[in-house]
Amino acid sequence: MRYLILSDIHANLHALDAVLADAELQGYDATLVLGDLVGYGADPAAVIARTLALEPVAMVRGNHDKVCAGLEPAALFNDVARHSIEWTAETLSAAELRLLAELPKGPCQLTADLEICHGAPFDEDYYVFDSGDAARAIEASQGRLCFFGHTHLPALFATPEDPVLQDPDLPTEELVLPRTGPALINVGSVGQPRDGDARAAYGILDATRSALRLRLRRVAYDVAGAQARIRGAGLPEWLAARLERGQ
Ligand code: ZN
Repeated sequence: MRYLILSDIHANLHALDAVLADAELQGYDATLVLGDLVGYGADPAAVIARTLALEPVAMVRGNHDKVCAGLEPAALFNDVARHSIEWTAETLSAAELRLLAELPKGPCQLTADLEICHGAPFDEDYYVFDSGDAARAIEASQGRLCFFGHTHLPALFATPEDPVLQDPDLPTEELVLPRTGPALINVGSVGQPRDGDARAAYGILDATRSALRLRLRRVAYDVAGAQARIRGAGLPEWLAARLERGQ
């Protein structure tokens, strides 16, 4: 089974389409979506439609999905994020908002080996940035491998006894995951990368062979096109500018 792993698409249709074209070439059987379909970008409806068309086998909500659906107050967000999510809520139809509201809260366990969440298994809104956060998250995880998003930073944390790699030295070639011991993995953000690399990020997990193999992909996309959509929608300029810096 090959899983396509998508996180933090953030209404960036240009990035999502480039990722899906690349993923088609890589080949995959099933899709996992780790939340934040909307917010920041200017194509929320199209991104929701594209994502649903993939018929994900597991999908969890992100904090932007929650606020957009009215499940949490936008007052929790900074000014730019709030402006963006209010615009998104006005743009989407009632049916699309309902769909966001019904996205399941993570974590979601797929198999004994595999779990997904948006922030951390113990708190969907928690940011896992360092090995201390990761140790807490690994402790709380029910699956041996837990994929998370939310920080928009690719990262792989394993236990001290069985270390693999930690950001920022992640390889771009296929990575063989440890046969034993837990690992906590962030494949990065499709629609708003924040590691200084503007290319869209996603992952493919190959669980068909005896070893689990992970490929962290980076895909160049039409950043100018996504920026033009943001500016055309009257969203804050900073949201357009940050895409080309990957921050
Ligand atoms: Zn996000």
